[in-house]
Amino acid sequence: MTSLLQLQNCGALRRAWPPPGANPRPRCPLLPPVPAAGPQPGPGPHPLRRHSGGPAGLPQALLRTDALVGGRWLPAAAGTFPVQDPATGAQIGRVADCGAAEARGAVSAAHQAFCSWKGVSAKERSSLLRKWYDLMIKNKDDLAKIITAENGKPLKEAQGEILYSAFFLEWFSEEARRIYGDIIYTPAKDRRALVLKQPVGVAAIITPWNFPSAMITRKVGAALAAGCTVVVKPAEDTPLSALALGELANQAGIPAGVYNVVPCSREKTKEVGEALCTDPLVSKISFTGSTATGKILLHYAADSVKRVSMELGGHAPFIVFDSANVDQAVAGALASKYRNSGQVEKHVSDAVSKGATIVTGGKRHSFGKNFFEPTLLSNVTVDMLCSQEETFGPLAPVIKFDTEEEALAIANAVDVGLAGYFYSQDPAQIWRVAEQLEVGMVGVNEGLLSTVECPFGGVKQSGLGREGSKYGIDEYLELKYVCYGGL
Ligand code: ADP
Repeated sequence: MTSLLQLQNCGALRRAWPPPGANPRPRCPLLPPVPAAGPQPGPGPHPLRRHSGGPAGLPQALLRTDALVGGRWLPAAAGTFPVQDPATGAQIGRVADCGAAEARGAVSAAHQAFCSWKGVSAKERSSLLRKWYDLMIKNKDDLAKIITAENGKPLKEAQGEILYSAFFLEWFSEEARRIYGDIIYTPAKDRRALVLKQPVGVAAIITPWNFPSAMITRKVGAALAAGCTVVVKPAEDTPLSALALGELANQAGIPAGVYNVVPCSREKTKEVGEALCTDPLVSKISFTGSTATGKILLHYAADSVKRVSMELGGHAPFIVFDSANVDQAVAGALASKYRNSGQVEKHVSDAVSKGATIVTGGKRHSFGKNFFEPTLLSNVTVDMLCSQEETFGPLAPVIKFDTEEEALAIANAVDVGLAGYFYSQDPAQIWRVAEQLEVGMVGVNEGLLSTVECPFGGVKQSGLGREGSKYGIDEYLELKYVCYGGL
């Protein structure tokens, strides 16, 4: 049988956001495997509950709740907003609710710091990033507890995320010393052309809740390595990870103002986002989130022609061809797709109302109202919502196809293109399909793609630019052509 699976993430349901009908965001399940050691989640009380129940259960030394501006921890004029454990709804802390004024203050601090940070030698920047990495590794278990508490993902996945996040700091600490320019010989004998690479300036970094630590280090590591300074606006649900990273940045000796964090509530998001993305002192916007929000930020960027990196929604096709090793494909589907948390339920009822069949699952889990059963749908067609939008829930809609052309047509019919996976043992087919899938990343007989050494990003409405890899740093560098005459 040939089949095309479109699977999405799984786990705890988020609180009711985004609202039904809103374009959900990428939360693409591309992280490397979580460490194998240790007990696996099993039946009974969900393991993440061990880390809920208030700040007392969390590592106090890393539990920062003020904004980080210019190296100092500052309260916000408007007070605080609550951070909740999505598994239980329990409040785990209250965090400074920044507004436009605090955002502008952070930009100003970042700009001041940029004036000196850009002159710090690459070797020194490298060694500071390395210290930050070392501290992340030293504190990895505590950082993972914070992710689990505020994001809801199982502790094992949070531990995997922390390692993955730390590896970006390690990678960019190494890449910081490998920013080269060019010398170009032009037809004019008395001249040489030089190309210099220089940091763009202050970067505003807006991150999502799904990978609250990895999305930060992937951007911030590249930015700092390039000589930029940053203001991070973390997602409303997950500010504690960004702030804990700030505590470690301070301990690592990252200079004041190089890494700033302005957390805010959902009510303040728009004003903080606008303040950051329209401030003339900000030269670059890097965003991971929904395509809908990305478009708003692109409008802001257009007004003052800022550089942008956008990592937006995806809808990864997972194609199993006739020649595939089916056991491998099943393992890949489980590893790559059934992870992390999301919003769900509407997609199941929409599909069933249009003729799909629930093979297994289909309703909320006995773990509680915030959990959904892993669900498999058959008889899925391309007009169903689950074929068109990201589900962010443990849902596997299955669409049958007859020919390679048909599978490609279904996979390429969407207006997003982040990652695509397929399973085949036919070398010619592997080349054809890899080249024709309209995505930024392809997994061939492999469900886990993401690694710091390789470029992460999408095509079409999945985004602009690439993160990680040797290319990630270019997003934070300007090219300057110097014509050196009179030779
Ligand atoms: P999701 O909530 O599904 O993760 P969003 O795109 O809404 O996806 O959110 C991703 C990030 O974008 C979060 O940090 C959120 O606070 C931020 N965000 C949402 N709307 C805006 C906006 N209008 N301006 C700036 N940032 C925004």
